[in-house]
Amino acid sequence: MSVKTPYSFFESVEKSFDKAAQFTKWEDGILQQIKACNSVYRMRFPIKRDNGSIEVMEAYRVQHSQHKSPCKGGIRFSEAVNQDEVMALAALMTFKCAIVNVPFGGAKGGIKINPRNYSTYELEKITRRYTSELVKKNFIGPGIDVPAPDYGTGEREMAWIVDTYQSLKPGEIDAAGCVTGKPITQGGVRGRKEATGLGVFFGIREVCNMTEVMNKLGLTTGVEGKKVVVQGLGNVGYHTAKFFREHGAMIICLAEYEGAIFNAAGLNEEQVFQHRKKTGSILNFPGASNLAVNTDALELDCDILIPAALENVINGDNAQRVKAKIIAEAANGPCTPEADEIFIQKGILCIPDMYLNAGGVTVSYFEWLKNLSHVRYGRLEKRFSENMNAHILGQIEELSGKMVSEKERLFIMHGAEEVDLVHSGLEETMVSATREIMDIWISNPSIPDMRTAAYVSAINKVAISYVELGIFP
Ligand code: GLU
Repeated sequence: MSVKTPYSFFESVEKSFDKAAQFTKWEDGILQQIKACNSVYRMRFPIKRDNGSIEVMEAYRVQHSQHKSPCKGGIRFSEAVNQDEVMALAALMTFKCAIVNVPFGGAKGGIKINPRNYSTYELEKITRRYTSELVKKNFIGPGIDVPAPDYGTGEREMAWIVDTYQSLKPGEIDAAGCVTGKPITQGGVRGRKEATGLGVFFGIREVCNMTEVMNKLGLTTGVEGKKVVVQGLGNVGYHTAKFFREHGAMIICLAEYEGAIFNAAGLNEEQVFQHRKKTGSILNFPGASNLAVNTDALELDCDILIPAALENVINGDNAQRVKAKIIAEAANGPCTPEADEIFIQKGILCIPDMYLNAGGVTVSYFEWLKNLSHVRYGRLEKRFSENMNAHILGQIEELSGKMVSEKERLFIMHGAEEVDLVHSGLEETMVSATREIMDIWISNPSIPDMRTAAYVSAINKVAISYVELGIFP
């Protein structure tokens, strides 16, 4: 779905950075250091295919910043992977973590393959070999650099990574923290899978609850009844659509790379997902109409457009035709700097990727903390809270002579489980980050858009930690 742009992805991140840097007080040297990619590891290794042939893999791991340890960021499997893309995505991770106060540096990895063209066994060999290359060069470890899922990877790949790492580092007590997004049985945390989509929902909901912002856009407050278009039905797009639908929004269009479908009365993402699984395509979904080209979805009349697939999909060519009032970047880098300028002119609000999709890394942080503490969240306090809640409720009922309903009883008595704590930590993170960025934007009227305000927040936080580290010899 990506298109040609006048400059590379990394250059476009630099452009957005420079645009924001002028609203900060840091000297040029510090800004240059924050912008630079610290370490780039490009590797080549051979893999024997199932048919006996040998194929040379092209893969990367980039650590953009080590101002905090470990570095953090996903690994993507995609044919579009190249050094520039991985560098840009690693830089976005640095800024993303800073904005949501997750104490990590930024990193990203990628293997240039289309996973659909490989068998499960081949993918396992590729993932394990990639991991051992990272171990050899000290590019992975719970205190060094902690990968996670990204486009084209998921729990299965993370399980292979942790297993390979553990086998190469026997006795390392915190080894499970070398990667996040693992299956629960391998040290994962409940709530990680839906985390990015839920974070996207929390972030947009917070903006939609800001009456002044909504008035300016000519929209009503709240997410209920909003017409939403989602591009991409992968893990992020699927869960984003799910949370919007569950909270009363209408998903009028879903797009995937083979096409897009439209239904003004709203689509159910799970039914569409099952249809795609069965037929191999999103198209011809009962009750919906097919759009001629998948990118037509981006130009539909709607309240919120959510690109949740790849970078550069909204650019100088098509931004002028976008009719949405809000563009919410669930993917990394879906809008180019030219598109940003057009949105400013047209009064479209773009909620930027590097904070909006930070739910994944936020919950990764919770998973990593769980791995280092070697205990499940809620294990110590769940029963204590339930006993205490029962006691308080009993006292209230006795003193008032009234009894609460059975439904209320269950709700009040409930002691927090792991997933409750993870979701609540995520909600708190997204809500406060949204407010922080909006405050920066409102307090400086010359800041042109929300992306620039988000970058200002990120630059200030990274700069402070560089200065406090005293790392300038
Ligand atoms: N790949 C996700 C991202 O781009 C998650 C990264 C992580 O959990 O480390 O934010």
